[in-house]
Amino acid sequence: MDIQAKFTVLLHRDEIDARVRRLAGEISREYRTKHPVLIGVLKGSFIFLADLIRQLDFPLDVDFIRLSSYGQGTTSAGEVRVEHALRNPIKGRHVLVIEDIVDTGITISFLLNFLEKEQPASLKLCALTDKPSRRQVPVKIDFTGFTVPDKFIVGYGLDWNEQFRHLPDICVLED
Ligand code: 5GP
Ligand code: MG
Repeated sequence: MDIQAKFTVLLHRDEIDARVRRLAGEISREYRTKHPVLIGVLKGSFIFLADLIRQLDFPLDVDFIRLSSYGQGTTSAGEVRVEHALRNPIKGRHVLVIEDIVDTGITISFLLNFLEKEQPASLKLCALTDKPSRRQVPVKIDFTGFTVPDKFIVGYGLDWNEQFRHLPDICVLED
């Protein structure tokens, strides 16, 4: 299969790297003395989270949560479930959720409501990418990497049917 023909690079690895470093600076200013818990939303955020935390030189915890969002294909099921819960309580902790993309907003608003019930000291959102054109539920993104057009993107953790997460650049998947 000629996979090159199916993609256009939207965000090159160097551009992502530079943006992640700047985000890490913003996050450091906010959290340096707060010993936050960074919660990665599996699976799409794993590469972003791994790159981001290696730019943070203050105490922090890492946890993961797994939600069902898209099944197969490129449209949202509109239904969200927690499939893999947190290991440690977040009550009284400063929580920063790390997400790959906010599209309709359904997934992340469900998660933020779910986490808020655990009574964290604070709850904020960092999203690598924001696709505001398709928003159905308003979402406050505290730290945004890139605003992206209404295209289906893959790479740097983002998949299409579990494929293409390992691409180092963020690419548009052409139909
Ligand atoms: P939402 O609930 O905001 O519509 O969808 C959020 C989830 O849908 C993301 O966490 C991601 O898993 C998936 N998603 C939305 N847009 C894209 C996209 O362009 N590419 C990929 N790979 N996943 C997407
Ligand atoms: Mg996701």
